[in-house]
Amino acid sequence: MEKIKMKTPIVEMDGDEMTRILWKIIKDELICPYIDLKSEYYDLGLANRNATNDQVTIDSANANKKYGVAVKCATITPNAARMTEYDLKEMWKSPNGTIRAILDGTVFRAPITVKGIEPYVRTWKKPITIARHAYGDVYKNVEIDVPGPGKAELVFTGEDGEELRETVFDFKGPGVLQGMHNIDKSIASFARSCFNYALDTKQDLWFATKDTISKKYDHTFKDIFQEIFDAEYKERFEKAGIVYFYTLIDDAVARVMKSEGGFIWACKNYDGDVMSDMISSAFGSLAMMTSVLVSPDGKYEYEAAHGTVQRHYYKYLKGEETSTNSVATIFAWTGALRKRGELDDIPELMRFSDRLEKAVIATIESGKMTKDLALITSLPDVTVLNSEDFIKAVRATYEML
Ligand code: NAP
Ligand code: MG
Repeated sequence: MEKIKMKTPIVEMDGDEMTRILWKIIKDELICPYIDLKSEYYDLGLANRNATNDQVTIDSANANKKYGVAVKCATITPNAARMTEYDLKEMWKSPNGTIRAILDGTVFRAPITVKGIEPYVRTWKKPITIARHAYGDVYKNVEIDVPGPGKAELVFTGEDGEELRETVFDFKGPGVLQGMHNIDKSIASFARSCFNYALDTKQDLWFATKDTISKKYDHTFKDIFQEIFDAEYKERFEKAGIVYFYTLIDDAVARVMKSEGGFIWACKNYDGDVMSDMISSAFGSLAMMTSVLVSPDGKYEYEAAHGTVQRHYYKYLKGEETSTNSVATIFAWTGALRKRGELDDIPELMRFSDRLEKAVIATIESGKMTKDLALITSLPDVTVLNSEDFIKAVRATYEML
């Protein structure tokens, strides 16, 4: 059989530890036998980030901007322990943070659903995709431990010297104080990424804040979303038969619980942090969550939501058998290849991605899965496979479809 030809290269960002091991097996078993893979390869493994003073991360993000579509392996975000483990020159920043800042993108996370791994919420029939605004609010706050009585004020001094001033509180005794900000430009980028992704995936978009209490701060989020929707997206949403729905955050939470799923839930930074963990654990497994970074001008970076699965890697290094779930990483590849197929008008590439995803799901539904899923499945006859054998089983299923 002839391999599928590509036009534009995919930006390939390799990573660390167990996911780096899976990466190679996935390519060897599931991608390269079927596709004449055109990729521009960047090694974001920590050793190479350190060797290049992290320039490789910046280069890979710029390549993502240039070509439009990237697929990324999980990477280590260095901490004190990693400094010694990898003999690092510096505590390099999280690659995801660097890439996100360069693309000015929003992260969309969605669970991969299969029969036999039922969500804990009975009404959920379809995946719920969470979009988290990744700038500002409490993540860029300033705080003061108030020592005792005194007046707290919020002051803005314009470049022209003009002053805006509000009393926050007249303290009679000790307390705490916090200042937060966000910027219209970032909120607008977030809104456009969400509207674009909703159109892209033909799903309704929900957005919620606490604008009744926060009449300026949260209300600005609501207003910017609405203005951009009315001016740029309303007609396109109508044509696509999808809806933009705004409500209060507490109402959204209640509705999500009673919903059937199948929509995108856009969240402010903190809400998204909290709710994405709730959604992923309620759908069953972090190993079954995909993640895609979407920029407001339509650049995409696909990856798994989980990390490098360090504990499994240390077992692997000792020569022990591992049973690490590669599903989200395989879906990162299919997501990226499908998008490349869409952009370059290569229907075979889109069909390949659909078929490979079907093969993954059929393999699990036939009872062949990794240990993490075997522990939570409701399927009766389960065969637990090791990391490599699961990927080989997917290939066998793919060949049969
Ligand atoms: P993790 O790699 O997501 O793993 C945490 C635990 O979750 C694992 O020990 C494992 O549980 C389970 N798990 C996660 N993915 C799995 C999979 N595919 N198959 C089977 N089990 C899976 O998180 P971490 O251990 O906290 O972080 C490890 C490294 O990843 C850190 O250096 C962190 O910086 C990095 N990280 C990177 C990204 C990214 O690149 N996007 C995201 C998060 C973390 P058991 O051990 O119980 O089997
Ligand atoms: Mg969190």
